[in-house]
Amino acid sequence: MNRFFIQPEYIKGKSVHFPPDLSHQIVHVLRLKAGDLVDVLDNSGTVYHVALDIDPAEKIVQGRIMDSSMAKGEPAVTIELCVGLSQRDKFEWILQKGSEIGVSVFTPFISSRTLVQSGDLKPKRRDRWERIIREAAEQSGRGKLPELNDPVPFSELLQDESSDGVLSLIAWEGKDPEESGLIDPLIGYSGSRIRLLVGPEGGFSEEEVDSALECGCQVVSLGTRILRMETAAIFFPGLVLYLLENTNQV
Ligand code: SAH
Repeated sequence: MNRFFIQPEYIKGKSVHFPPDLSHQIVHVLRLKAGDLVDVLDNSGTVYHVALDIDPAEKIVQGRIMDSSMAKGEPAVTIELCVGLSQRDKFEWILQKGSEIGVSVFTPFISSRTLVQSGDLKPKRRDRWERIIREAAEQSGRGKLPELNDPVPFSELLQDESSDGVLSLIAWEGKDPEESGLIDPLIGYSGSRIRLLVGPEGGFSEEEVDSALECGCQVVSLGTRILRMETAAIFFPGLVLYLLENTNQV
């Protein structure tokens, strides 16, 4: 089933008026026909099941809402993944896979060992990264689009670590997996937001881990082996969501 996120203003009553770029994609790229069914999302968590109404003479595709439901792929807990800003390809891969896995907010940061030390996200790059996130969210059945924050210095990131109900976990390979497993901090967790911090290629410095601890983060190990940052950035939220959603261990 094809799924499309659109701005809520394109939905009026039971009708959907697809914007020009999506109309083009529906007719010329996907070659869908009148009567075909698609899922439309307005970023509220609801998924609308829509029958297409395509007039070949018209540039704008319309649709009729048949019914709606809550998107099954949207996690109940908001996972914010804070990860060291890296080379373009690697970071795009993290955005794509993270969106599929269920990350709701991406916050890139600059720390002492990040390869990229300039924090600007140019409009062109932001557009490209938001498109990658949207396509991954559509493909994986999310109900809401993950957000992309502007890059922040690591010290700034730690400032709002103490908000109520937020569980903050920092992944550090310097911890013994036996002592600092991931299950303990999640046992009995009933809040709505979890922040996960993954360091850059060169890792976190000890000072950075100490300041995270001082700000209320808990340090966790992701196991005996050292993972590359992009592996850790996928494995960490994947494991947290799997434990919360699919097991009765926490
Ligand atoms: N430069 C370091 C590894 C950095 S890996 C070294 O070679 O020793 C990049 C990030 O992935 C780390 O900062 C950490 O957040 C995370 N990470 C990788 N393996 C991990 C593990 N076994 N436990 C916890 N975090 C890990």
